[in-house]
Amino acid sequence: MKFKPKSIKNSLTFTIGLFATLTILALGWVHHYAVRGAVMKQVYKTQLITDLKAHQSELLITLEKAIETSEALADDPALTEWFTSVKVNPKTKEIALKKLDYIHKELGYPTIFAVNNSTNEYWCENFKLLDIVTEEDPDDSWFFTTIRSQRKSTLNFDSNSILNQTMLFVNVLMGSPDAPIGVAGVGINPSVLIEQFKKNKPSENAHLWLVDNKGKILLSERTNEINKNLYALFDQDVVSGLLSGSREQIIREVNFRNEKYELASMLMGSTDYRVVMVIPQDDLLGIVNVIAINTIWLTILVFILTIVISTLLAKNISRPIEHLALLTKRIADSKLNSPVKNKLIERDDEIGHLAKEFDSMQKQLSLTISRLNKANADLENDKIQLKSINKELKTAMEKASESEKLTKAFMANISHEIRTPMNSIMGFAQLLENELQDDEILKNYSGIIIENGNQLLAILNSIIEVAKMDSGITKPHLVRFPVNKVISECMGFFSYSTRNNVNLVNACENKEETTITSDILLLKRILNNLISNAIKYTSEGTVEVKFRIENDTILFQVSDTGIGISTKDQASIFKPFWQVSNDSSINDGAGLGLAISKKMVEILGGEIWVESEPGVGSDFYFTLPHKKS
Ligand code: ADP
Repeated sequence: MKFKPKSIKNSLTFTIGLFATLTILALGWVHHYAVRGAVMKQVYKTQLITDLKAHQSELLITLEKAIETSEALADDPALTEWFTSVKVNPKTKEIALKKLDYIHKELGYPTIFAVNNSTNEYWCENFKLLDIVTEEDPDDSWFFTTIRSQRKSTLNFDSNSILNQTMLFVNVLMGSPDAPIGVAGVGINPSVLIEQFKKNKPSENAHLWLVDNKGKILLSERTNEINKNLYALFDQDVVSGLLSGSREQIIREVNFRNEKYELASMLMGSTDYRVVMVIPQDDLLGIVNVIAINTIWLTILVFILTIVISTLLAKNISRPIEHLALLTKRIADSKLNSPVKNKLIERDDEIGHLAKEFDSMQKQLSLTISRLNKANADLENDKIQLKSINKELKTAMEKASESEKLTKAFMANISHEIRTPMNSIMGFAQLLENELQDDEILKNYSGIIIENGNQLLAILNSIIEVAKMDSGITKPHLVRFPVNKVISECMGFFSYSTRNNVNLVNACENKEETTITSDILLLKRILNNLISNAIKYTSEGTVEVKFRIENDTILFQVSDTGIGISTKDQASIFKPFWQVSNDSSINDGAGLGLAISKKMVEILGGEIWVESEPGVGSDFYFTLPHKKS
């Protein structure tokens, strides 16, 4: 696979770029359809409700706080006692006044008030008696309206004579609705509320109102609209639909001042009051357009930021990786002298860590390679030396083999050369013995010559045989023959020469006939050697011969109950000229019989060994290859 060093950076930039482009396209598409169709309408309606909720919640917080304060005032025990007592305890009155003064100052309402239902006395500010409310005075009518309608709380606009301004009063009924003892409340400076309206108004042309359940506008930034009724501004069915509806939110298209407006209305929490907003449809479209354009700008900004970030990422991550990849390639090309940039190694982050590890790996590698090179050079030297030693050894071996061959040839020749005169000596000794029939002494001498000559000839024959086998002249002559028969023949040969107290046992006599492929003469010679030794070293007891087949071999065993062989001697008896017993009455051999047997077994592809215990007897084993046919 071809290595692409820039793929991380490219894929990062490509993915982010693609994502940003798709976002722009998607936004463009949405914008396109939103401006023209139903999506647009849905968007601005959602926007409308969001705006309205913002106003409603701020207003609600302010009003609920005011209602809460008014309720605390209405439920105040000292004030209640004061308003219900025929003769007020001055202490109680003082406590009530202090508490109410505290509320006035701490909470910052421009005015607080309480009106006694039984005396119609009106207290305001620091609860000094100010006036007596009368039913005739239209300014005081809110008090009677509140008491009569027995509403728990009302909102009311009125002009405050002291502060000389219009206020939004929050009136709360004192006592139970069945037996009201008065009205208490706070005045809210409408400018505070109007400021909230102004702050959140979505467009200049929007109108935002707080209306009561009769459609009366209680609050508006346009003071001339305050106390006007919605019935005067919109079609009757629009307003009655708005007021009668128990729905929390209402959005509908209306005609307002001969233009198309969207009207949205929302109930103020659990109260009867509503926030109503009207906004020209064109302004709404403008708002949505602004949102769309802002979104596009935002997308462009994100796109630019993405490119900047991906470039920085590329600089910080993919370039160092590219650098390390390049170094890796150089290492692969066996160029180990390319150092990692210091700037990278000094970095205190994952890349720095990687660079450090890479650098130490490179150094380690270079060290290992130089060690390997040295070891290689040493090996090369050793190889040259070995080659020359090998050559010397070969020459030495050739020389040794040559000299061994020469020795063996010499032995064979000498033996042969000795055998020829020996034969004539033996012949003449025999003739001499025949001629010296009457002279006992000379006859005895010639007998000694014949006996020793025979021994010498036997030794010579053995030496010649060993030499022949060593020089590879003796080759096996393989034929197929029955083993049982061969053993019986050998045993038969010895049966006449065996002493009376040695029992010769042929364990294969009645055994099933077994045929093998081997050299019949060599096998006979081996068996004869072993049997003759067994008889020779057994003064009384048994000499037994047997065989058995074991997988691909045939195992022969010649056992006796003779003198046995010590463990130490067992290791040497197969060496030429090795004799254990020096008793010449037993041993007339030259210590070559077992050595010759071993060589013959090996020529036939087998092995020979002994197991023996001195005084108990010996077991001689040898194997020959055997293929079942
Ligand atoms: P030798 O002609 O002297 O018998 P061999 O090579 O046949 O030579 O035997 C070597 C030696 O091994 C013998 O001198 C003898 O001491 C010992 N040996 C061989 N066969 C037996 C046996 N069956 N029991 C005890 N000793 C044996």
